[in-house]
Amino acid sequence: MVLPPDYHMHTPLCRHATGEPVDYARRAMEIGLAEIGFTDHSPMARDDFDDWRMRSDQLDDYVEKVRRAQREFPQLTIRLGLEVDYLPGHEDWIRDLAARQSWDYFIGSVHYVSDDWAVDSPFQLAKWKNRDTFEVWSVYFDRLTMAAQSGLFEIIGHTDLPKKFGHRPTQDCQPLYGKFLDAAKQHGCAIELNTAGLRRDCQEIYPSREILQLALAKGVPITFGSDAHAPEEVGLNFTEAVELARSVGYQDSLRLSSHQRTKVGF
Ligand SMILES: [Zn+2]
Ligand SMILES: [Zn+2]
Repeated sequence: MVLPPDYHMHTPLCRHATGEPVDYARRAMEIGLAEIGFTDHSPMARDDFDDWRMRSDQLDDYVEKVRRAQREFPQLTIRLGLEVDYLPGHEDWIRDLAARQSWDYFIGSVHYVSDDWAVDSPFQLAKWKNRDTFEVWSVYFDRLTMAAQSGLFEIIGHTDLPKKFGHRPTQDCQPLYGKFLDAAKQHGCAIELNTAGLRRDCQEIYPSREILQLALAKGVPITFGSDAHAPEEVGLNFTEAVELARSVGYQDSLRLSSHQRTKVGF
């Protein structure tokens, strides 16, 4: 099996990952990947927004770490990206980030369903008790749709992240998914098969088979990401992810270089 590129990996600059980009690159070579991409958590306009991302003044340091991995592993194709938090109103800041370096791509992720609640935070689990699960999913998918419509992202990250701790609505979510996927298709966004979900309470790849089937039907392309926060997580469970994609009917994933899209089979 030819493994697809791993387009979602972090660095210690985000303050909750271990290992340098060179260590991730070495691991990628060991497991036979031909291409990877770094997408650490982007800085926010305000450095005190939260404590799980790099600061603005570390952006050059980040790029240099990735460039060093590119120099040390010329046999491996290494892309430069960011996982950017999408919050409504942050578009100008994201455009500013985009202009600062020659990025290959941005993953647009929604973690925040309000300015002070990241749905995937294990430290904010109590917030779920005061909110209706379907209402949270609705807000999340509205923001995801806005992220796709912004045109700022090549990839949308972990599409059904609110399932992380097992909070799943009983209502039919197809209308939420459909609206988001229509926007993704219209603006050329891929969705990622993110294997980190297998390492969480939900024990399932992001997104679900249901979303993936709908995405295929609408012609939305895919990428793969381990969401590695340590070198040993690079490419983790990619065999399962490829099997899932194939079983739904996908045959290729998106390759990204300087914001240009091509396809690679798997
Ligand atoms: Zn992270
Ligand atoms: Zn994320």
